[in-house]
Amino acid sequence: MRGLMQDVGLTLQMVTERVGELYGDKTVATKTAEGIRRRSYSDVVERVTRLAAALTQLGIKPGDRVGTFAWNSDHHLELYLAVPCMGAVLHTLNPRLPADQIGYIAEHADDKLMFVDASVAPAWQQVPPVAGIRAVVVMDDATEAGRSGAGVLPDALDYEALLDSADASFAWPRLDEGDAAAMCYTSGTTGMPKGLVYSHRSSVLHAMASLFVDCLALSERDVLLPIVPQFHVNAWGTPYAALLTGASLAMPGRFMADPPSLATLVAEEGVTVSAAVPTVWFGVLQAIRAGVVDPAKLSSLQRIVCGGSAVPEALLRGFDDLGIRMIQAWGMTETSPLGTVANLKTTIPEDRAMATRLTQGIPAPSLRVRVVTDDEQVAPWNGSTMGELQITGPWIADAYYDPQAPQGRGGQDRFTEDESGRRWLKTGDVAVIDADGYVQLLDRTSDLVKSGGEWISTVELENLLIAHDKVREAAVIAVAHAKWGERPLACVVKADASVTTDELLAYLGEHVARWQVPDDIVFVDEVPKTTVGKFDKKVLRKRYGDYQLQSSNAELPPG
Ligand code: ADP
Repeated sequence: MRGLMQDVGLTLQMVTERVGELYGDKTVATKTAEGIRRRSYSDVVERVTRLAAALTQLGIKPGDRVGTFAWNSDHHLELYLAVPCMGAVLHTLNPRLPADQIGYIAEHADDKLMFVDASVAPAWQQVPPVAGIRAVVVMDDATEAGRSGAGVLPDALDYEALLDSADASFAWPRLDEGDAAAMCYTSGTTGMPKGLVYSHRSSVLHAMASLFVDCLALSERDVLLPIVPQFHVNAWGTPYAALLTGASLAMPGRFMADPPSLATLVAEEGVTVSAAVPTVWFGVLQAIRAGVVDPAKLSSLQRIVCGGSAVPEALLRGFDDLGIRMIQAWGMTETSPLGTVANLKTTIPEDRAMATRLTQGIPAPSLRVRVVTDDEQVAPWNGSTMGELQITGPWIADAYYDPQAPQGRGGQDRFTEDESGRRWLKTGDVAVIDADGYVQLLDRTSDLVKSGGEWISTVELENLLIAHDKVREAAVIAVAHAKWGERPLACVVKADASVTTDELLAYLGEHVARWQVPDDIVFVDEVPKTTVGKFDKKVLRKRYGDYQLQSSNAELPPG
């Protein structure tokens, strides 16, 4: 028997309709060099309609890719709605990538138009010409009025002029929920960027899930500050979630790495919830400790979503002390990205609360996770059997975009099917799952250190090092070793000039087995970061891969 309910497709048009009908008085505030630009959602929706009309006039057809090269802003938000809702595909590009990679991505995705923030126009000019791009539109991100974009790039169109000339009435086409809504390429931490194609359905379900109290608990009462860039997995999908529920937005513009600007935005907009990678939050804590940021400015902030790389205990505790709850989440570009969230179940006893908050969490509703061992066995949930983390669910990728492959479905070696025919994404992350279902990530497959046949988690060592008072940053990499195959080497940024190698190695020896203690420490001025603020271990491996270790802490055969 079939259900007898209405078959309404889940498309992002729902988000535009809802925010226009119900939350027109709520606002998006954008930090510019001049000050804060505020716009009501009813204004946004009116402009979104004009933008859709303008895109049509520029020849954009359903399925065409429209690129953005921009920071978090009201303009970028308008593109988030107009492009998918008129049937085209929003493709967000990361302006911090090397120019040749940007060119490769735009070419690979077959972008037809590019919307560029004036402040990154110089970076766009470095990009080799992309054959398919018909026009570039410049958006002013420097002034409150938002009207000085014209003339920044030769032959470029001006965003405001484009909207002014467009019709304010536009009939939204009927879309299929399976149609592509947006594209995003991985940030390339472990290799060349790979393209993902999100559907309308996956985007809507992902936004809805973010609203669940046991996920990110976003509600109409919130003011959300997404610091994670809109080009980094759609700012973790938070703008769509905020619009769907009517939460106001505060956008940092190009000031996402500037703690004083962020604190001012929090104070002026009454931000209640924010999202960013650990590096950003460490920057905020350091600015507070250095007296550059007054913590009173953060008093409206209730919670922080943090992920993208492991959240160290020192960071959680630093924000606990400020009365701000940091919630760890795990995800990937391939998972839209919300995968797991570390909220505490009521059944977790108090003495395990901190350890549980430091896990990557339990899967969001409708997702399932499992760990598969090297010998292809599904691991028991015992907190100790490790293997590759796999995930399945309605907003998990089923293929990578490859225009050469049949139906564009590439990367099939990264997916597997179980006996019931269910598809699982192989994440490339190594993890254990405990009896309560919490996933603990040990490493990326490519970062693990294999010493004498046993694995050593670099994430665990890094978290311990960062918890040390005299350490600011730490990244652990594998270094070749004649006897043990690989041994860990720690690259450490000092917080206190007096800290010594012996002191840190002795400290680690108190927390992990002796054979897991790194064989040496190199002190560095800074740990290199990727364009989205993660430790760039590729660079460290290149620099120290043939580092000569003097002696080894692995003299006791491991395992
Ligand atoms: P890239 O793959 O280029 O780094 P992504 O942003 O897709 O870009 O990164 C996803 C990866 O980031 C995950 O596979 C995982 O290794 C890491 N990651 C994300 N969240 C966490 C977290 N909370 N703890 C540890 N690692 C994380």
